[in-house]
Amino acid sequence: MLFVQKFGGSSVANAERIRNVAGIIAEKFLEGNEVVVVLSAQGDTTDELLEKAAEINPDPSKRELDMLLTTGEQQSIALMAMCLEGMGLPVVSLTGWQVGLRTDASYGAARIRRVDTERLRRELDKKRIVLVAGFQGVNKFDDYTTLGRGGSDTTAVALAAALHADRCQIFTDVEGVYTADPRKVPGARKLEEITYDEMLELASMGAQVLMNRSVQLARRYGVELEVLSSLVRAPGTKVKEVSKNMEEMKITGIAKDEKVARVTVVQVADRPGSAFRVLNAVSRAGINVDMIIQANGRDGANDMSFVVAETDAEAACRALEERQAAIGFDHISVDKDIAKISVVGAGMMSSVGIASLVFEALNDEHINIQMINTSEIKISCVIDAASADRAVAAIHRKFFEQ
Ligand code: ADP
Ligand code: ASP
Ligand code: MG
Repeated sequence: MLFVQKFGGSSVANAERIRNVAGIIAEKFLEGNEVVVVLSAQGDTTDELLEKAAEINPDPSKRELDMLLTTGEQQSIALMAMCLEGMGLPVVSLTGWQVGLRTDASYGAARIRRVDTERLRRELDKKRIVLVAGFQGVNKFDDYTTLGRGGSDTTAVALAAALHADRCQIFTDVEGVYTADPRKVPGARKLEEITYDEMLELASMGAQVLMNRSVQLARRYGVELEVLSSLVRAPGTKVKEVSKNMEEMKITGIAKDEKVARVTVVQVADRPGSAFRVLNAVSRAGINVDMIIQANGRDGANDMSFVVAETDAEAACRALEERQAAIGFDHISVDKDIAKISVVGAGMMSSVGIASLVFEALNDEHINIQMINTSEIKISCVIDAASADRAVAAIHRKFFEQ
């Protein structure tokens, strides 16, 4: 069988952890499997590299930033290769360049275009363990790019799809996907299975255990994922098309995203096309918006609010202010002290009253809801950031701990 195994930063954080992971890889290989391993940078290396860059230049070009960030993953694969060599195993480490992982041109958030499997295949045919640097690729200028934070998950899924791997295992520092972040919610339960759609919502709404784009890719190519611990031997969570729990459980999980901001366009002109002009200005700046609300004031003027990623808030303001005359509004206000809490579950489609239970949980805690958004399998609420953990705990109790 062909296995793709991915190990995140904490799984390879130091020499002892590297030896531990080498043991997991060796075991699979010695059972007679072909093994491709994707590694992240050790521990907090990527954050440290970002800090180093900021010390030198607070506004470096994205190209040079990617040149720097890709070194983290390269260290991990070389060190892991040395460890496996020391165990007498045949191994080769390869960068994104060497495996022919081609991306689009956008530094810092590149999308994978294609993967040439030729080199990978050749190395596997030589009966070697192949170690690949995650998070990185090469663009049409032959420059290194990175795939966005958490991108090694996406590298792993892309390689699994390209190689038609039998399994894609994502090893991390928790035992699988839980009903809420197990580090924040002590009562969180490990899920045996979860659907791609649910996992995609959870990942997009802040559950960092998988990068959302890796889940998208897995769904598109039908790559079944298994999320499991590199430290504890226990069955993990399967991410797949249909899950056993779909009908039984009303909701599957709760996610929290604190890296969001609310942008309010105060007193937008009350005329046809205003909403279009506001959102057009923002989308032309390449910014995604979520949870749009428009409140009609008595004096005929409206406020329009929407949520963006915290890192996009300033750019959204600028884009709007540049077009203030054309759009017609008084001023823009930004609130970064908010959090978005999302409740996800395919079971919502077949049960009534889920939203009211969520609101009841927040009401019990006297937490004010600022914005609400619902889809078939998700309910999101914006609340103040200080109440976020309390809100997740309260909703979790309501659904999972009664
Ligand atoms: P890695 O370095 O292995 O990629 P990450 O830090 O990116 O690991 O993701 C794992 C972390 O995701 C866990 O330590 C956990 O705190 C967090 N997490 C958030 N929500 C969930 C969830 N629903 N289930 C499991 N882990 C979650
Ligand atoms: N090292 C990168 C990051 O910290 C990629 C990853 O860990 O998946 O975002
Ligand atoms: Mg990760």
